[in-house]
Amino acid sequence: MSGFCPTCGRYIYSHHKCPPLWDVWCERDGEKRGDHNPIHGDDAQDAAERYAERSDTDSAEYSFMKYPGQVMVAPIDNSEEPKRFSVEGEAVPSYHAREIEP
Ligand SMILES: [Zn+2]
Repeated sequence: MSGFCPTCGRYIYSHHKCPPLWDVWCERDGEKRGDHNPIHGDDAQDAAERYAERSDTDSAEYSFMKYPGQVMVAPIDNSEEPKRFSVEGEAVPSYHAREIEP
């Protein structure tokens, strides 16, 4: 089996196991724990980054790219206390060339 995992969205190598689920929420936006679908992440930091990416992509406002935001991350199974992360994004420059007729 190859391609992307339908559950976590990661590319599947020979032995795939989905990364653990995390609850991520943004107090700045008035969110509370459990407001969102859980996010797969290798660790709490990875989950925070994926939350920001998903949030920016879904809203098209790119708020994390404009200014850093704080998010809270907790394991979905409550095994650890929530951690606070400051997340910021950066736009990757991209150049396109096209030939112009003389
Ligand atoms: Zn998976």
